[in-house]
Amino acid sequence: MKWDYIFLELDNTLISPRNPKNENVEGVSDIYLTDRSYEVLKYHKDNGSKIYVLTNQPLIAMGKRTLDDVYALLYATNYLLGNLLDGFGICPHHPSGVVTKYAKVCACKKPADGLLREFIADRGITREDLKGSLFVGHSSSDATLARQYGMEFKAPSDFF
Ligand SMILES: [Zn+2]
Repeated sequence: MKWDYIFLELDNTLISPRNPKNENVEGVSDIYLTDRSYEVLKYHKDNGSKIYVLTNQPLIAMGKRTLDDVYALLYATNYLLGNLLDGFGICPHHPSGVVTKYAKVCACKKPADGLLREFIADRGITREDLKGSLFVGHSSSDATLARQYGMEFKAPSDFF
């Protein structure tokens, strides 16, 4: 199967905590990638797919991670994957967050489409181009957004 674009959620999709006691990945050294992550993504990359991470990061609004922490996780993950990832988009918001500047209802938190819409616009990708693309995520918000854009959706266990 060839997908033009593959979008992935980060936590509990592409990465999970190495320490099973942690609810979320606690830092770069706690990143666990499934054994097949590299193999599967490399296959699709070689087949012509662009691979992007679009992630809801409410932990930033909750004060449990900073934006820099998330970039560190993304860069480390990409390093571990041999730079197979083509780009990242982050929503740091949550309506009940404690970090004032991120505590709001936003247009980018999936299933809202603001993050995806701006991300593709920045790259000259049209909504029409996304037909024949895939979203891989662990939550119903990813599934909802995928459906709205006519993309196929898969749970991580069905992809990796
Ligand atoms: Zn947002």
